[in-house]
Amino acid sequence: MQNTEQIIIEKVKGAYEAGKKGAAAGTVASYIPELAKSDGSDFGICVMQRSGSIIGFGDTDRYFSIQSISKVIILAVALRMLGDAEVFSGVQMEPSGDSFNSILKLDTASSKPYNPLINAGAIQVTGDLAGNVTFDEMLSFAREFCLDDSVHINEAVYHSEASTGDRNRAIAYLLKSKGVLKGDPMETVDLYFRMCSLNVTAKSLAGLASVLSNNGVDIRTGRRLLDDYHTRVINTLMFTCGMYDGSGEFAVKAGLPAKSGVGGGICAPARYGMGIGTYGPALDAHGNSVGGIMALEYLSNALHMHMLQ
Ligand code: GLN
Repeated sequence: MQNTEQIIIEKVKGAYEAGKKGAAAGTVASYIPELAKSDGSDFGICVMQRSGSIIGFGDTDRYFSIQSISKVIILAVALRMLGDAEVFSGVQMEPSGDSFNSILKLDTASSKPYNPLINAGAIQVTGDLAGNVTFDEMLSFAREFCLDDSVHINEAVYHSEASTGDRNRAIAYLLKSKGVLKGDPMETVDLYFRMCSLNVTAKSLAGLASVLSNNGVDIRTGRRLLDDYHTRVINTLMFTCGMYDGSGEFAVKAGLPAKSGVGGGICAPARYGMGIGTYGPALDAHGNSVGGIMALEYLSNALHMHMLQ
């Protein structure tokens, strides 16, 4: 008879195979020119269990650009430093149903961005921090939350992003004009670009997911990084908004909190204190990793991890 560990390893392998096969169907992001250099056939999955044991298949140690998954880290830092009342005075907790970089509803429906996991909301939250926290401090937080001291900035991605980021600058100035953004727009967007340009691996994302699936605790040391309520806020927003305008379908199919980035990563805190990180740079039309979605859907069903079933 197989023990639980062997069963989990086998299921993660199945998820890897599903993700690797599915990856081919997507397209690598090119609107940030540096990201277009990724290989769409790459795929990796890493699972960190509550025991600390790590299971990985495929490209689990390959560095890639964290992109929007940094929004989770930005939110975690802001909640920890400023508290939820302050953070949510400038941003809502609602799914937007629009694409991740949409500017539309900011001007027509509400001055407050819909949630902290779309560009407008993350820029708003970054504005609460810019001027008070340096990038080096944010990098330390990123390493802490990812349980990985090797997280570093990719300068080429940062420059590529900064030189093509006019839409994000437009969002920051619009928020400023409405009196919502607290920081300086240029300083805010610069910090946001740097955070999006962090290089991580699927293993770093499994570490971040592990903290979130263990109520904010670093399972290696027992140290609390986030309080229970802030962890709940982040996980719930990831469940409802983390996959942008693909969040509803992903919630039905995989039923896990998750945050994607156009660099190809997905960070998914799951049941049983399991943290899952995937990497597959080929994306669907919403900007979510095709292989990552397939692998997470597979693993969630194989291990009965849907949150609402
Ligand atoms: N840096 C990217 C942007 O602002 C992040 C988007 C993403 O990963 N979806 O456009």
